[in-house]
Amino acid sequence: MIDYEYLKPKDLEEVFSLLKSYGERAVLIAGGTDVMVNIRNKKLAPEALISLRGLEDLAYVKKGEDGYHIGALATHRMLETSSLVQSELSALYDGASQVGSVQIRNVATVGGNICNAAPSADTASPLLALDAVAVLRGPGGSRKVPLTEFFTGPSQTVRASDEVLVEFEIPSEMGQFGSAYHKHSRRKAMDLPILGVAVSLKIEGEIIRDARIALSVAAPTPMRAMEAEAYLKGKKLSDDVLIEAGKIAANEASPRDSLRGKAWYRKEMIETFVPRMAHKALERLKNR
Ligand SMILES: Cc1cc2nc3c(=O)[nH]c(=O)nc-3n(C[C@H](O)[C@H](O)[C@H](O)COP(=O)(O)OP(=O)(O)OC[C@H]3O[C@@H](n4cnc5c(N)ncnc54)[C@H](O)[C@@H]3O)c2cc1C
Repeated sequence: MIDYEYLKPKDLEEVFSLLKSYGERAVLIAGGTDVMVNIRNKKLAPEALISLRGLEDLAYVKKGEDGYHIGALATHRMLETSSLVQSELSALYDGASQVGSVQIRNVATVGGNICNAAPSADTASPLLALDAVAVLRGPGGSRKVPLTEFFTGPSQTVRASDEVLVEFEIPSEMGQFGSAYHKHSRRKAMDLPILGVAVSLKIEGEIIRDARIALSVAAPTPMRAMEAEAYLKGKKLSDDVLIEAGKIAANEASPRDSLRGKAWYRKEMIETFVPRMAHKALERLKNR
């Protein structure tokens, strides 16, 4: 039997103090849907689990004058059922609403999804395409890290062992973008993506003013396809332009062969789904 202590601090100060006393022997746990699987598979054997479940004030989705704020403890279900996320941060709605099953989404958090740092994390591409910034807090204060700099490798991030991810900030400007995320998987339910494609676009008349393209399972970490984004900026919207952006994005990606899918197939799917997600993003913007 696996034996560990379960600690439930009431506030962040208590979390920091426990992290200091236990050091590497403790693991933070939010919804536990990754941590408990890793303990069962013997990838983790902590002496203590420090639960963040008592930090209920970190479970929120709100919009202020300075932009959107999503607490790290917000569950996927909270994001999925938020009318603000559905209408103004639609790619995140697409990602969160496709994580596991409703039972998983009721407990699994967006902070856990990002800190777990799987290349396949379903909220990673949407948050990248929405210019999200991760806010980390440690005993010495807070720091902000753009999500583009957050992931350092599969299952690895810039988060220091004494830091807690407290929220994501999304600039208010992103509310003027339409966005969409496609999770490409073999089955409709309970499957990790073979590939994830998120696109957000800002348009004025027929001109694409700004664009973000983010990809999951297309490289060792979730990534932005910045050459394709640069290509789109200032172009007149047309099918040809979006198809070309898909080709550029596929060239920027460096997927690997795996049991779920071959690298060449992932590249073809990037070419296919960049234009499709761009159309979906624009359609949503039109219908807002
Ligand atoms: C059956 C099943 C289906 C799944 N399907 C999907 C899927 O379709 N798509 C998908 O993306 N994922 C899926 N997952 C994975 C998992 O549910 C998600 O990654 C989930 O969002 C993790 O959140 P959590 O709160 O449960 O994280 P936890 O398991 O509690 O934590 C995950 C990691 O993040 C760290 N952590 C958590 N919160 C914080 C914080 N605030 N600050 C610092 N570190 C923190 C923990 O220490 C741990 O390393 C699935 C899992 C299961 C069991």
